[in-house]
This record gives sequence, C-alpha cells and structure tokens, in this order.
Amino acid sequence: MSESTKNFRFETDADGIALATWDMPGRSMNVITMAVMDELEGIVDAVVADATIKGCVVTSGKPNFSGGADLTMLQGLGAEYERLKAAEGEEVAMRHFFEASRRLSLVFRKLETCGKPFAAAVQGLCLGGAFELALACHHRVLADDEKTRVGLPEIKVGLFPGGGGTQRVARLMQTGDALQMLFKGEQIRPLMAKNMGLAHEVAPAAEIVERAKAWIKAGGSAVAPWDVPKFKAPSGKVYSPAGMMIWPPANAIYRRETHDNYPAAKAILASVYEGLQLPMDLGLKVESRYFAYILRTKEAQAMIRTLFISMGEINKGARRPKDVEPARIGKVGVVGAGFMGAGIAYVTAQAGMEVVLIDRDQAAADAGKAHCHTLITGQINRGKAKTADRDALLARITATSDYAALGTCDLVVEAVFEDPAVKAEVIGKVEAALPEHAIFASNTSTLPISGLAKVSKRPEQFVGIHFFSPVEKMLLVEVIRGTQTGDRAVATALDYVRAIKKTGIVVNDARGFFANRCVLAYVKEGHKMLMEGVPPAMIENAGRMAGMPVGPLSLNDEVALDLGLKILKATEAQLGSSAIDPDQKRLLLEMVENRGRLGRKNKRGFYDYPEGGQKKLWPGLSEIQPTRLDPDSIDVEELKHRFLVVQALEAARTVQEGVITDPREADVGSILGFGFAPFTGGALSYIDFMGASAFVDLARALEAKHGARFTPPDNLLAMAGHGGRFYDALKRAA
Ligand code: NAD
Repeated sequence: MSESTKNFRFETDADGIALATWDMPGRSMNVITMAVMDELEGIVDAVVADATIKGCVVTSGKPNFSGGADLTMLQGLGAEYERLKAAEGEEVAMRHFFEASRRLSLVFRKLETCGKPFAAAVQGLCLGGAFELALACHHRVLADDEKTRVGLPEIKVGLFPGGGGTQRVARLMQTGDALQMLFKGEQIRPLMAKNMGLAHEVAPAAEIVERAKAWIKAGGSAVAPWDVPKFKAPSGKVYSPAGMMIWPPANAIYRRETHDNYPAAKAILASVYEGLQLPMDLGLKVESRYFAYILRTKEAQAMIRTLFISMGEINKGARRPKDVEPARIGKVGVVGAGFMGAGIAYVTAQAGMEVVLIDRDQAAADAGKAHCHTLITGQINRGKAKTADRDALLARITATSDYAALGTCDLVVEAVFEDPAVKAEVIGKVEAALPEHAIFASNTSTLPISGLAKVSKRPEQFVGIHFFSPVEKMLLVEVIRGTQTGDRAVATALDYVRAIKKTGIVVNDARGFFANRCVLAYVKEGHKMLMEGVPPAMIENAGRMAGMPVGPLSLNDEVALDLGLKILKATEAQLGSSAIDPDQKRLLLEMVENRGRLGRKNKRGFYDYPEGGQKKLWPGLSEIQPTRLDPDSIDVEELKHRFLVVQALEAARTVQEGVITDPREADVGSILGFGFAPFTGGALSYIDFMGASAFVDLARALEAKHGARFTPPDNLLAMAGHGGRFYDALKRAA
C-alpha cells in the first residue's frame, strides 16, 4: 500500500485505527487529481481487506485540508472528449466523458459503503471536492480555529458539485438551507457548519485526529444516515404539502437571482429536486449526469478559464516583468486622505504595511485616519476583526501634513484632487521628500499617466495604480504603464497590489484606461435607451437580465451624475463635440443642471432615495423622455445584446489600440472591475465563445439600427474573417 501511495501517508495504530494523512509532495495545498482518486480508492480497499483495521481517519498533513479538485484536470476531460468525438463519434466520447467525470463520486460512494467507519479530521480550508470527501465520511470533526472553513464553492466558477455534494447536503439539512448553501457557495466557519448539520464535532486543532479516532473506537457507525432503511430527509418528501412550500418559491428565487444565465445553478436545483425522490445511488447518478452536462457548457468553460485559471496566473505574476527582484514594501505613503486615499491607507495597513497618510493639513489627514477607524469598526461589528486588530491597524497609520515623513517610504500613492495643477504640485513635493529607490504612483482615473509624468524628475519610477471605489471592497486594480514607466515601477506596483490581496492588471496609458471605458459604454447605453423612450424599469431589468450586477441607471446614481457630466464636458472641450453623444449630454444637463439630481449622494438621481425606505425610480423620468415607446414593441433580447455588445466592442477596441495586451487581463478585469456578466467569462471571452463571426454579425445588425458605436473594429473583422480568437495569440506565446 505505502509503495503506491505518494500523496497520502498511511499508518495504523495499536487500536487498529488507520490514519490516512493527505500530504502531496511539492505542493503547498492538497488538490484532487487522478492519482489522488486512485490512491484514495486504494486506501478504502486496504482498510476493508485488513481485518485488524477497525476504521480510518482521513486528515491533512498541511495547514489546509484541501482546496478541492484540480480544475485543469476537468479541462483535460473536455479536451479528451473532443479528441474522442472526432476519432470515435459522439456517443463513445460522451460515455467516456460521463464515466470519467463521475469517478470521484464513485470513489466517495465506495468509501461510504465499504462497511468500515471513516471519519474526517479537518483543519484549514476544506472546499469543493475535498469537502465532498468529508461529507462521504461517516463522521466529521472540524478544527475550532480562525482558518478552518468548509463549503462547496463550485457555483462560483460556473461548476456544480459532482462528487455527491448536492445529494449529501440535501439529505443533511432542510431543503431551503441546502439550496442556499449550494447557490451561494460560501465558505462556512466550523461552528456554523456544525449548527447547519454539516459537521458532528468542533474541537481544538490539536485534538481533531484523536477525537475522530475516539469516535471510531467507541463503535461509530459505518452506515450513512441515508443508507439506513426508512431514512427521511429533513424536509420530508418532495411531493408533500411541505415540499410544495419549498419548490415553487425555490424556482422563483433561482430565476430572480440568475435570470436563467447560469446552467450550473439550474442543474443544482434539478439535481436536488430529482435526487431527493430517489435512493442515494440513483440520486448520485442523476447528479453525475448533470455534472457531465455542466462541465461541457460554455459557461463553465468560460468561467473556469477566467475566474480560476487566468486569475490564478495573473495573481501569480504572469504579467509581472520577469527580471525584477521582488519589491520590499515596508512603508507606503498615501497623499490625499479623502475618500479614495483613506481607503487605500486602510487596505495597506490591513496588509501589515506601515502607512504615512498626508493631506493639506493635520485635520484633513486625521479625518482620513478616522475613516479607517470607521471601516475596521464595521469589521469588528460583523465579527470579522477584534479590537486588538483595530489598535494594531491604527498604530500602523501615521496621519500628518508633513511631507518629510515620506523619507522612509518605498512607495507613494497619490490620491489628491483630480486637477493636473494640484497633482503637479504634489508630485514635486513628494519627489523632493522620497528616497531614491521609491516608486511614485498616481490613482488618477481620467488624467493620462504619461502627461502627469512630464513634471516628474524620474518618470521611469512613475506609474499609475488605479483603484476602484469602494477600495476596501473592489478586488481589481489597474496598473497603468505610461510611455516612460520602467519595469521596476510596474513590478513594484504589482507586488504591492498582491500584498493588499487584490488582482492587478497591466494597462497601457490611454484615456479612461480599460475598465472605465467599458463601463461608461454600459451607462451610456442606458442613457441612450432612456432618450429613445424605453421605460426606465425595463432598462434596469434588461441590464440585470443581461447579467450585469446592477442596472445602468442605478450604477450611474452610485457614481454620481455630475461626475459623468463633468467628464463629458471635459471630453468635449478637449476633443470637440463629435467626441460626445448629444443625447447623453442633453439628458445629463437636464438631470444635473435643471433638476439638481446628482445621484445617491444628494438622494435624488435616476432614483429617489426616501429616508429609511427603499429606493424607487424617479417618476419624473417619463417627463424628461422626448418620446415614450410602447413597451410591447420593444425587443428585450435586443436590449440585453446592446448592453453586452457595446461593452465587448469597447474591450475589443482597447486590444486594437494596444491598451490591453493580454486577453486574460481584459476578462478578469471586466468581471472584477465592473461585474461584466460573469457567465460569459468576461468581455473578450463573450466574443470568443460566441465566435468572432457571429459577434460581428450581431454588432453589424445593431450598428444598422443604432449607429456607429456598434461598428466592429478592424481586429474583430480580421478575426471574423479567419475564425480567430483573442486567446489564439496567448496560446502561441505559451
Ligand atoms: P476626495 O476629494 O475625496 O479626496 C481628495 C483629497 O485630497 C482631499 O482630502 C483633499 O484635501 C486632498 N488634497 C487636495 N489637494 C491636496 C494637496 N495639495 N496636498 C495634499 N492633499 C490634498 O477625492 P477622491 O474621490 O478620493 O479622489 C482622489 C483621486 O482618486 C482623484 O485623482 C480621482 O480621480 C481618483 N479616483 C477616484 C475614484 C472615485 O470613485 N472617487 C476612483 C478611482 C480614482
């Protein structure tokens, strides 16, 4: 047994209790691979075959139990399917795919029904397929510590728990709770997991293995609850009065939350619904069928590629200049302690770095630090931080108006007013105080970095670090490379972004950079629809139905309408009236200047924000509309297409212009930065998975009806001509 087992240590104690310690060599985290499945099956066989072994505890030799299945292995299955389909036909390919994709489920079921008790002793992260392994064990002991979390997060990458998760969870708890858990894919803390019925014991980390062994020694049963005759699921039968209270609303909630865009969510619903009406083995088979189907959907493929593979590669430094030593960033200066600056100071201090927070005077700097106090207090109130964390965090932030305090900083991020003159003055003052090696970064959202760098004495050490608001929540940061920005500045910026646990994409300098360009196109499309006479509620709903997290009018209210008008006017002043849309200008002038409606910030925007009540679309919008269309005459599918196509076209233009040089960054950036319909895999994957030719046809049809903003750029036309994809270049480079 031990010879063939590379990924587990296997030993049996004097009481006849085996311990399988999962500890994959050369990896920081255990993952489920083909070899792991084989070895696990071997362990089950060994435990069954040896009459002296009473049962087995499964645990991990690493700080975490395991993050789950190796998703690249699942990608490999898809490739094998395509190969077999071409060689031997679809039926053979599908049969092979089905059997291969249910291997994990069968191994777990074998463990569960082998006749000897298995217990899981879990510490650290135990997610996805790894938690399904724990669920297949007859007893689960979780470590009572801060790092331990269990859960089935498959849905977050468009997948579906195919290792028995949907069946076991649905048999452990009330159906409504089970569906919520599977839909949300959240990581669950140990005590919560126990209360939900997902674990049997919570114990100090040092005792979990002993407790699991003690359970076996005390005669723990090797029969899962659902294998006991007359087992009843916690919510009873599906076809029962109680079941009828659950399923119709569950279906409605699914539609409300997903707009039917996520096949994996629908498959969860169906798998639980059908599985609960069947004995376990058949339920598992149903689950396997859905799993095999989901694995092959373009949504799962797109989401795995962007949210798992590309994001992992980017976070591991795929786009970081290779020859630069890792930056040592002990102290960071933040100049401008306003809305953004305070957020930047907070996330930096939270990552353990020292912060010098500077504003024009002490009071303004103190106000920025007070905002950090508010943010961490919010965390304490939510149980996510302790008072001691607050003290330590605030102790790391020095609020001052004295630039000399920047003398020991490795990096300075500037977040003062968006005014070139103010920025120029600040750049001069900061550079005079900074040590030689330090990097200067600007958080400007609209001013080109290369222009700002003109006043810098060391433009190669000058870079853009563009955060999104609110800083403490948004995971994306754009690192802007100006014409003179050097590799060390880019590498330092990316190292810093990683240190604060965000994802950085490298964007070449251009007006609006990447994310804002695309998202402004989305908001503008909403404005255009309003001026065409589409009912406002229909605009908002179509945005969400297309897969966006919020409607365009809602989004504009959050950002502020006057800001949009300001940008529009500045663009017009610099580039002439042909560079802006007259309908949009008319709408924003009416809203901002004539009606004083600025957005959420003054509680009056496209929505009204009544004190203590829910926001509602402002009824006066219909007066502002030059015309009103009959809702029955409007094609909602077309509205949805307009929203996604207009953003994808903008993303394609950023590639054509060399602003984006790697499709992974556009895809990851569009989902993390502005919530571009995640099921598509991002703004460029949306085009790639549709096929450039079909996309160009769609864009052309919209262009004929709505004008030049839908004109496809040359790079897309070329791709449509030869069947190319944005990711082809990446494959060649790899
Ligand atoms: P803000 O008005 O809230 O804060 C600006 C701060 O800079 C104020 O506290 C002000 O006192 C300070 N300041 C002004 N002149 C200064 C000087 N000479 N020396 C020191 N401090 C000075 O603005 P904000 O929303 O935090 O935006 C700051 C920057 O971040 C801008 O460049 C903006 O474009 C960019 N940005 C903003 C957002 C956003 O959503 N608000 C998003 C991304 C980037």
